Parts: sequence; C-alpha cells; structure tokens
Amino acid sequence: MGSTERIRNVAKRVAKWVRAGHQLVVVPSAMSGETNRLLGLAKELAPDAHSAEHRRELDQIAATGEQVSSGLLAIALQAEGVQAISYAGWQVTIKTDDSYTKARIQSIDDARVRKDLAAGKVVIITGFQGVDDEGNITTLGRGGSDTSAVAVAAAMKADECLIYTDVDGVYTTDPRVVPEAKRLATISFEEMLEMASLGSKVLQIRSVEFAGKYRVPLRVLSSFTPWDIPLAEEAVSGTLISFEEDEKMEQAVVSGIAFSRDEAKITVTGVPDKPGIAYQILGPVADANIDVDVIVQNVSHEGRTDFSFTVTRGDYNKTLELLKNTVGPSVGGLDVSGDPKIVKVSIVGIGMRSHVGVASKMFRVLSEEGINIQMITTSEIKTSVVIDEKYMELAVRALHKAFDLDAPAAA
Ligand code: ASP
Ligand code: MG
Repeated sequence: MGSTERIRNVAKRVAKWVRAGHQLVVVPSAMSGETNRLLGLAKELAPDAHSAEHRRELDQIAATGEQVSSGLLAIALQAEGVQAISYAGWQVTIKTDDSYTKARIQSIDDARVRKDLAAGKVVIITGFQGVDDEGNITTLGRGGSDTSAVAVAAAMKADECLIYTDVDGVYTTDPRVVPEAKRLATISFEEMLEMASLGSKVLQIRSVEFAGKYRVPLRVLSSFTPWDIPLAEEAVSGTLISFEEDEKMEQAVVSGIAFSRDEAKITVTGVPDKPGIAYQILGPVADANIDVDVIVQNVSHEGRTDFSFTVTRGDYNKTLELLKNTVGPSVGGLDVSGDPKIVKVSIVGIGMRSHVGVASKMFRVLSEEGINIQMITTSEIKTSVVIDEKYMELAVRALHKAFDLDAPAAA
C-alpha cells in the first residue's frame, strides 16, 4: 500500500476475487512508512513519546494511518465498480484491552460486517487498531495488522485468511543469510509458531497464536505479483500454514532454521543452592516486565550453583542493573555478569518428534565448524542453541545445508 497506484492495484486484485464469487473482508495496514512517520512526529514533540504518559496519544496518532489506507481502498474499489465500505476498529466494534501500543483483541462484533457482505459489499476494516471499554483507541503493536486480519477471519469463520506481504512466503531460513533458502509450500501451524517466536519476522507472532487458537487457515503470499495473474494460481501461491500434519509426511525432519540476534545473556554465579532462590532472582526480573527466555542452572558445588538466562538486548542493561543493585545485595554473595553479544539459532520441525538424533546432529555440525555452544534448550519440535554472535551466519548456513534444506542448484 505504498502509493495510490499500489492501492489501485490492491483494488483490482480484490475485484478479481469478488468477480470470482467470493465474499471479502479486507484488512489494510497503513501505507508503507506511514506508521514510522506518524510516530516520528510524536517523537519530535516528546523524545520520550513511548513512555507510559504518552501512550494513549501515540495510539490516537498511529491509528490514523490505517484509517487513511482503508478509506482510500474503499474509494479505489468503488472506482473499479465494486461496492465497498470502510470501518475503523471502533466502528465494527473491535474491542481490546486498554494496554496502549500493545493492546490485545478481546472480541469482534461481526453483525455489521455480515450485513454489508450480505448486501454484496466488500468490507474494509482498519488493521492494527481497536477500542477499549472506555472508548479509547488502542493499537496492537507493530505489525499488528496481521493479528487484526486473523482475528477478523476467525470472527467471520472465513475459509482462509490471506496475508499479502512483501515476501512471497515462509522460507526455510532468511534468504539474506542463506541465498539457497527455499520457500515452503506448506508449514504446520506449530512450526510457524516456533519460527515466528524464534525471530523469523514474516508475521506478527500474535497473529500465528490467534490462527492456532481459532484454527484459521492462513496463507502468506506476495503483494508484488501482478494483480492480474490467474486466480487459481494466486490461490495456491505463497506458504499455507496448515493444521493437516499428514501432508507433511514426505517432508524433511527439519523444516527450517530460525535465528534471533535480539538476545543477551546474564550469568549469576555463587547462588546458594536452596529452595526459592530461582524465584528470588527471577521474580523481580519478571516484575520489572522483562521477558526471560532460555534458563540454565548447573549442579551445585559446596552448596553454591550458578545459572544463566537470556533476555532481549533492549532489556540487557536494565536486567544487569536490577540484579547488581537490588537482587544481589538482598540474596547475598551473588556475582552477576553478562554478554550482550550472543544469538540464538534453532532448528524447527515436527519431524523431530518421530526421529532420534536430530539434536545431536545439530551439535555435531556446530562442532565441525568450531562453534562453541553456550546454552541449549529443546522442545518437542525444536532445538535452540545460544552462541557467540560472530558465528551466527556460519551456524545458520552449515545447519541449513546439513539438514538438506538448500534448494537444489538450478539445472
Ligand atoms: N501499520 C502498523 C505498523 O507499521 C501495523 C502493520 O503494518 O501491521 O506496525
Ligand atoms: Mg505489516
């Protein structure tokens, strides 16, 4: 939605689906760069625009981006001869809680939308926003239009939710790191959830959680294909995030390699090994709204142990200070150190459930590259390691190749 020309193309694409007999609800995000521009204006007036004091107004401002693109799309559709009507979140109503800048959708009233659809209209609903119980406008966090779209699809019990974006699907890993990465025609919902939470930025993670909860079939596809490609081709393009695991039987054990640079490690040594200590240390961290990810605790020697955990890089200094200044003195004898230059690399695949030795193969590949593993966590369908950031690309490339994910060389 970068320009009026692009909006016209979106309208032509929508019209193509309508003419094929589909009922459509369209959830636009803002025109590209617009949300940044709007938030930038606020920052010019208050450098701390993101502080709690200003958040309500930030949402008031940021939500306008989607209102503009929705109205423009409605006009473009009308100009194409398609009946269309646009609504802001509060008009639908899309009810959210009151956590400005990261609100969660609580309910969607589908009555108005159904009435318009029945009258033959395309309904356009602003992405990214809603309204709280008091009538305040809220936004869902950056990338939140994905979540709006899935939530609307769930409320409407849509056959499928199509997310048109700037990539043409979900890849085995980031093609900027591994040029041989290939697009997946399908990925299971659980794998997608892992990929999204492990740093693959194709969709806002909440949208994937929502799709899982309400079993909304979700397809990620490119908004850059010409609008007039045949509908049958478009309908099967991109990546389908599906709930049908058996389709995957023939596929690889590992479906993708995810990574996240947004990690930092904190190590606490000399921790008394007795009940309640993990809570005494991590409780205040949680109370400060800091998300803790990988946690590793060692066996103790002489009643003392150490443990390490990871946080996002943005929370690194805050966590370090909290532990050094507040928690350390109260627990006594703690030594706190950290490393903000680490990354997390993960292999993901539902095939790991039924295959042994997948994690050990990962460790072997890393050791052959001389990469030291600092921390490990596993779940049923993923294994993650924490390593020095300077080895990230090497690790991702080596794993991608070792797990047979490289696309076959062109003949
Ligand atoms: N416009 C919002 C953003 O830039 C929401 C979205 O694009 O999904 O984050
Ligand atoms: Mg987006």
